[in-house]
Amino acid sequence: MNIILLGPPGAGKGTQARKLVDERGMVQLSTGDMLRAARTSGTDMGKKVAAVMDAGNLVTDEIVIGLIREQLSSDNAPGGYIFDGFPRTLAQADALGNLLVEMGETLDRVIEMQVDDEALVARITARSTCGDCGEVYNDQTKPWPADGKCSNCGGTNQTRRADDNEDSLKTRLMAYYKQTSPLVGYYYAKGDLKSVNGLASMDEVAASITKALG
Ligand code: AMP
Repeated sequence: MNIILLGPPGAGKGTQARKLVDERGMVQLSTGDMLRAARTSGTDMGKKVAAVMDAGNLVTDEIVIGLIREQLSSDNAPGGYIFDGFPRTLAQADALGNLLVEMGETLDRVIEMQVDDEALVARITARSTCGDCGEVYNDQTKPWPADGKCSNCGGTNQTRRADDNEDSLKTRLMAYYKQTSPLVGYYYAKGDLKSVNGLASMDEVAASITKALG
């Protein structure tokens, strides 16, 4: 089963993708993670996209489609793929459709995670992650453990994303509404879309996604 998690920044796509990876053996393809890895390793592409990402704008379709193409040709995912943060434009959605056809694969479900804007701002500005395993924390609802160690892996590398601040978030939200939200209609028209309430608790959202996957 190949699925897309669609939703604005802070909707919980990464958190739910990690659950699906653990529970169903699916492979998570997050273009945001791939771009951050390119920055950390200092590749030419990583340097090129750094300022665009920090400001909260979208990097070019060419770059992200290239990243996804590379992953799809090298990965083996019997449990299926979770596309997390991709596609974000209509051109990316078309490209993904073509890539899947080339591979003889199908897109089985698009899960839209609905969250209101105020909740997004609160979530994003309180967010931190474990730099070692990716576990997501929230200063209010799931604070980084007092002993300084990640509850999942024991690592001590608490990190905050450079673009998790109010200014970048405004740009990211605008990019979502202008460039990505048309995909809701696009996939609805194709008959692939299911929407879930992303404001519920993590386990309730997971249960809604399980139901939506059938
Ligand atoms: P994310 O981790 O999904 O929130 O992505 C972080 C940033 O990476 C975004 O704000 C964009 O600058 C860039 N990015 C990630 N995925 C895409 C994509 N599919 N298309 C364009 N830019 C992307």
